[in-house]
Amino acid sequence: MSRILITGGAGFIGTNLCEKLLSQNHHVIAIDNLITSTKSNIEPLFSNPKFEFIEQDVTLPLRNWKLEIRNWKFDFIYHLACPTGVPNLTKLAEEMLLACSAGTRNVLELAKKTKAKLLFTSSSEVYGDPQVFPQTENYTGNVDPIGIRSPYEEGKRFSESLIQMYVRKYNVNAKIVRVFNTYGNYMSSGDSRVIPRFLNQALNGKSLTVEGKGLQTRTFCYIDDLVDGLITVMEKGKKGEVYNLGNDKEVRIIDLAKLIIKITNSRSKLKLVERPAHDHKRRLPALEKVKKLGWKPKIFQEIGLRKTLQSIPYS
Ligand code: UDP
Repeated sequence: MSRILITGGAGFIGTNLCEKLLSQNHHVIAIDNLITSTKSNIEPLFSNPKFEFIEQDVTLPLRNWKLEIRNWKFDFIYHLACPTGVPNLTKLAEEMLLACSAGTRNVLELAKKTKAKLLFTSSSEVYGDPQVFPQTENYTGNVDPIGIRSPYEEGKRFSESLIQMYVRKYNVNAKIVRVFNTYGNYMSSGDSRVIPRFLNQALNGKSLTVEGKGLQTRTFCYIDDLVDGLITVMEKGKKGEVYNLGNDKEVRIIDLAKLIIKITNSRSKLKLVERPAHDHKRRLPALEKVKKLGWKPKIFQEIGLRKTLQSIPYS
């Protein structure tokens, strides 16, 4: 049994990770400032004596963190805390930049002090609007440092740089995972991301708002696969290494919309709406590196979407 800290533990990925690690009998401490999540996600876990939740903003100076977090010894730290989602790129830009700078530094200090192994969830957004397909981990990206998406893109890039500095200078045992689009249980029904948005629209008989002509692509990883991938990298990944994590089946947004109409038996139509200028055209992870650790995505999109439908109160 290990003692594991999860920052951003009440969020979409965090809640799923808490559940999985508890099912493996670990002691899990989740911290979150609840800025983009609610306690309702993790409330069912409160009855588990091996689970603890502490409301904590990771961007505050470490000396002001709640004493119990500062004094505990952790074996593993999963650092997930950071607002995400396209509307938050403007609404919570400052919070994103602080989570990725001050927040990541605080977590690194904690890992250094407690000698915990650290895994940081970076993002495919570090590649920006990529010009190379698929994106391997050594692709340096195509990012506008002052663009609308930069609080997230450059925030995650800064975090990665900070982490590598702690690996090189202080020998912290940290790994980085670049998470590509993921979906599934515990995404809130009000989530702006394309899958919850389309599911909501289809179930409520509203038109599905396809941006542009819907020819832009993404790959979508079901959350159970992603959580298994995070644990695999934590356990088997190498210190200072970066791993892409996601699904490598590329889907056009228009085809995703049609599939969602089909599986929800909806009469909704498609409505082509304006596509934001900063939207990325295409995204596709190279997964060879993480597959060498013995992980690969297993859940087909249609199955994942059906599971999502069953688990989330969309209506
Ligand atoms: N998208 C769309 N309609 C929506 C929401 C999103 O067509 O109502 C598209 C958007 O243009 C983007 C893709 O779906 O190309 C994924 O958007 P999302 O906000 O989920 O995440 P992103 O990958 O852009 O961060």
